[in-house]
Amino acid sequence: MPSKIRTRYAPSPTGIPHIGNIRSALFAWLYARHNNGDFIVRIEDTDQARYDADAERAIIDSLNWLGLNQDEGPDVGGQYGPYHQSKRLDLYSEAAIQLVKDGRAYYCYCSSERLGEVRKAQQARKEPPGYDNHCRDMDFGANGDFTQFEGSTKNGVIRFKMPLEGVTTAHDIIRGEIAWENQLLDDFVMVKSDGFPTYHLASVVDDHAMEISHVLRGDEWLASLPRHWQIYNALEYEKPIFVHLPIILGTDKSKLSKRHGAASVFEYKDQGFLAEAMINFLALLGWSLDDRTELISLPELIESFTIERIGSSPAIFNVDKLEWFNGMYIRNLSNGDFIEKLSSFWQTDQTPNSFSSSHLEAIAPLVQERTKKLNEVWNQISFLEGDIEYPPIRLWSGMGDKKAQRAERDGTHIEIPENAPEVRNWLSVSLNTLEQLNEWEDEAMEESLQIVISNLGTKPRQLFGALRVAITGGVVSPPLFPSMKILGREKSLQRISQAIALLD
Ligand code: GLU
Ligand code: ZN
Repeated sequence: MPSKIRTRYAPSPTGIPHIGNIRSALFAWLYARHNNGDFIVRIEDTDQARYDADAERAIIDSLNWLGLNQDEGPDVGGQYGPYHQSKRLDLYSEAAIQLVKDGRAYYCYCSSERLGEVRKAQQARKEPPGYDNHCRDMDFGANGDFTQFEGSTKNGVIRFKMPLEGVTTAHDIIRGEIAWENQLLDDFVMVKSDGFPTYHLASVVDDHAMEISHVLRGDEWLASLPRHWQIYNALEYEKPIFVHLPIILGTDKSKLSKRHGAASVFEYKDQGFLAEAMINFLALLGWSLDDRTELISLPELIESFTIERIGSSPAIFNVDKLEWFNGMYIRNLSNGDFIEKLSSFWQTDQTPNSFSSSHLEAIAPLVQERTKKLNEVWNQISFLEGDIEYPPIRLWSGMGDKKAQRAERDGTHIEIPENAPEVRNWLSVSLNTLEQLNEWEDEAMEESLQIVISNLGTKPRQLFGALRVAITGGVVSPPLFPSMKILGREKSLQRISQAIALLD
């Protein structure tokens, strides 16, 4: 066992972090926290053409949003820095030149035209693509003497000399020993013609230099492992323990994509997912406590997160499940915390943040139970503030009329149904009845309206459905009578009159 557990998250700042990235970050973080180790963030910005400053900001922001605090990294510094690979170029060239001197790597001056022809010829022969070792045995010296190369481009690359025969046997803690035929692994580039290292070299050099004990990363990097393994051997570095996390698939078992709702981490944040729910959900993408338990608090996760319980079979990403988790976490908040989360959510989202705090305090407990995402709340409670407006047909949608619901959903126009006078009558009888109530209490409202229902021979679903629309303007709302109570007598009666007027 290494003296200290040190894990790292090594994203490339080329795009906004997605679910797979952040799952790797979380697992590395949890493993470090479980072992009182260090969690390090390293920005792998060696692809200059694809570098994106926004992506880099988003990487750190997403970690901070989820609360994955860093012991070392670009934001917090640390004794193993700098934590941008672009600031560590000397280290990589030093290692590469050492390998050239040792006869384990070599300069290659092949032009891209030449490499293109090689590739074409390989395709024609139905051979796997790969470098044809043209420069492998030319001796360009330790500093690379390109003048010896016919028709060369001045800026060569440095390639690693893979063994030509045999197998590379590498070890992953989840999969055990894995062997690769060396014939199928070509002499890959370690240093590009712009002087920047490729991922393979930089990753090995840095994991060594930063004393990383465990490399937790996505399954898609397993194919790079034999190359890394060879570099470790050639440089005589001690290897970290490799942990390749199971692939994440969509519910249809195909590779995870936007189609499955697997958006960037921020799209979830913007919809009102809580960081706590997100973490719980992500932790179960490839790890489990006991095959049963789903709701696991963060302290419990840290306490129980071991590599032994990381699986090897694909993890399934299911947005409905994520929503379920979020709903559970929202329900478990105290009323006060729920209000606080809502208010800060509204501040970051475009929703007008003009809700009176007494209204919010009264209505929040009514919606908290049924909320799955914070972005659903505004539409359900905004009827309390300002005026409402809706097309008359919505009254029928509220009553459960399928045709009306379909027309509203598709944005098509349909005529107001023939029973409009009848519905109008229900509403005016209800209005009269409610006007006569002595106290504006939910129970009294409900009781008196039940009498209206039996006198008129209608159904609760119909009358209450129409009233829900009249009061809130929508077909989905917090419970009707408590909503009317919070809205107040005067406004409620006025809104029923507004509905009646729509049917005149
Ligand atoms: N830079 C790689 C990435 O974008 C890191 C892979 C690794 O963890 O080794 O995910
Ligand atoms: Zn070459």
